[in-house]
Amino acid sequence: KLTMLLAFSFMSHIAVAQQQDLQMKTFVDALLKKMTLEEKLGQLNLLTSGEVVTGSAVSTGVEAKIKAGQVGALLNMTKVDDIRKAQQMAVEQSRLKIPLLFGLDVVHGYKTTFPIPLALSCSWDMTMIERSARVAALEASADGINWTFSPMVDIARDARWGRIAEGSGEDPYLGSQIAAAMVRGYQGNNFSENSNILACVKHFALYGAAEAGRDYNTTDMSRVRMYNEYFPPYKAAVEAGAATVMTSFNEVDGIPATANKWLMTDVLRQQWGFKGFVVTDYTAINEMIAHGMGDLKTVSALALNAGTDMDMVGEGFTGTIAQSLKEGKVDINTINTACRRILEAKYKLGLFKDPYRNCKGDRSTEIYTPEKRQEARKAATETFVLLKNQQQLLPLKKQGSIALIGPLANSRVNMTGTWSVSAEITKHPSLLEALQQTVGNQVKINYAKGSNLTTDSMLEINSTMFGRSLHRDARTAAELKKEALAIASQSDIIVAALGESSEMTGEAASRTDIGIPDTQKELLAALVATGKPVVLVLFAGRPMTLTWENEHVPAILNVWFGGCEAGAAIADVLFGDVNPSGKLTTSFPQNVGQLPLYYSHKNTGRPLTANDKWFTKFHSNYLDVSNEPLYPFGYGLSYSSFSYSDIRLSAKQFKPGSHITATVTVTNTSHQDGIEIVQLYTRDLVGSITRPVKELKGFQRVAIKAGESKEVTFTISENDLKFYNSELKYVAEPGDFKIFIGGNSRDVKEEGFKLL
Ligand code: BGC
Repeated sequence: KLTMLLAFSFMSHIAVAQQQDLQMKTFVDALLKKMTLEEKLGQLNLLTSGEVVTGSAVSTGVEAKIKAGQVGALLNMTKVDDIRKAQQMAVEQSRLKIPLLFGLDVVHGYKTTFPIPLALSCSWDMTMIERSARVAALEASADGINWTFSPMVDIARDARWGRIAEGSGEDPYLGSQIAAAMVRGYQGNNFSENSNILACVKHFALYGAAEAGRDYNTTDMSRVRMYNEYFPPYKAAVEAGAATVMTSFNEVDGIPATANKWLMTDVLRQQWGFKGFVVTDYTAINEMIAHGMGDLKTVSALALNAGTDMDMVGEGFTGTIAQSLKEGKVDINTINTACRRILEAKYKLGLFKDPYRNCKGDRSTEIYTPEKRQEARKAATETFVLLKNQQQLLPLKKQGSIALIGPLANSRVNMTGTWSVSAEITKHPSLLEALQQTVGNQVKINYAKGSNLTTDSMLEINSTMFGRSLHRDARTAAELKKEALAIASQSDIIVAALGESSEMTGEAASRTDIGIPDTQKELLAALVATGKPVVLVLFAGRPMTLTWENEHVPAILNVWFGGCEAGAAIADVLFGDVNPSGKLTTSFPQNVGQLPLYYSHKNTGRPLTANDKWFTKFHSNYLDVSNEPLYPFGYGLSYSSFSYSDIRLSAKQFKPGSHITATVTVTNTSHQDGIEIVQLYTRDLVGSITRPVKELKGFQRVAIKAGESKEVTFTISENDLKFYNSELKYVAEPGDFKIFIGGNSRDVKEEGFKLL
């Protein structure tokens, strides 16, 4: 009876969905019939706010264009009154009254800023990550935004690339789970609630594989690699229902992604079933002229014919497609299809029923509330990665005196990282302010800046963009250092807050030297030389090179850019109110020459074996450093310590269609309750194509009390062993496999099994 009832309710669900689709189709068909060619092309046009709001003026004549029905969407507006004004122009003064979409890069929170995405990924906490996107959607939608250009799901394995900060690291399995969680957080189940906004998966595709880590650079890789290592997160986001996809700036297989029909139509729509619309990245159509693909008319037609629906800012579609239509270079059906996809998104959002649904300004009290900031604070504590903690220097005791030193110790503008709403960045407490708040007069905090952030003029110019100032101190490096050393000598312990400024990572912020900037490093060396215990609190938007620091500094806590409550969260972890649990989602190289570096590499014909030294002549190694990362993928310490038992398999072999389980006992061998992220990896020992030495296939965040043991069980089925073979078929091949379980990708227990 129950089965029948369930089946019935499932079928009626489908029937309702079909009915809704039909209603939408009827509505959009009728609207399309009324539209002129110019109005259709207008829907494909995404402009910046231009003169609709004062301040940012990139697109011109925007107001007139909205009224003439030549604009489908606007981006980069952050004031609800301005958004309402623009929407009024569209729905009251244009002929067909079609509402606008309002897009913004709400990347890691809106006004309640959460940690940067790379940091969020280090929590391995899908519930929290989904919730961070939900909070972002709640706030942004209350300010009129109905479309976010997030999540960025580009796999990145080269830390020189500045945008590594915006993604979820190097691993396709973890990246896929995060991509889906973010989409769910932004979009909810459907768009009936007006806090649900459209997500935009970006940047399709391979943007993170830019050669030499230089932003916007060429990419080139085999399709086998695309499918196995780079495509999974985009696909996962599409399967989670992402409403829109953004093209990437780079070329794929010799054709810029924006004009790549194989990518935008064959893969995205035919293979993955994507039903939403594709938007270009910022002026990506126009950039194809420089790529050498032809003039604006040619590249615009190429993009539209490839399956790209909306043109961001470049006005190539509105400027040239009518002419291409006359010349027979594009078909009216292609224009109709693109226009339909955009109108459908607006329909699904409910904008035709209530175009003002997000811009009434009636939910402004929901933005930046104490409760949401509390969530951001808790989230941030989960993202910090304890890289080193010699002699349990951390947690600090709430007594005595601390010398808090460094250019990031009292810098409000550098707490949130790239893509933060710039008007807000001066609001959030600095580390100094937060520490004082947390410890009151229990601990004496002596502060000195110690050095400027950088003396490199290029880094400085970049860092002052987007309204941030580095507050350069006019004193010389020697004077600043002297003051710091004096303060250090009066204190029991030194906390050095050093690293990158917010804008040293993010878009157009690639670096070839990924260490702590020299002037800060000199300060750190002087602090270490005092002989006092030093805790390095490292602000970073990328994996940094820390070989010297790892050798000389007793404790290192990587705090990334932790968002609006980063200061309080750092205090929580430094003083042990929260036990750190974050684990790296990118390998940290020993030096920049090892890049690109990732744990799931393949073997060469000349690998080093466990018994080899790091250097062996005629093997695949360097002369100067080993192949190992400084800190491996999955690594991160805790104030607790954990031990792992051997792996117990439920069987040594299984048939396709069935499964086995793998269990370990994880024991908290310390006196401190803690959270361990238990990781499962597999290796396919023999394949029809070469296979990685390890691949993440499961993980669990497990809370384990002091002295307690917990059984952690993973299920392994045929599906977990599948990969794309040389014909791009998704298969599992029978044979021998290895399984590894541990607290990071390096320190693991191993077992073997067979797929029959
Ligand atoms: C970035 C995108 C972003 C867009 C709109 C581009 O420069 O690459 O990630 O969504 O600008 O701001």
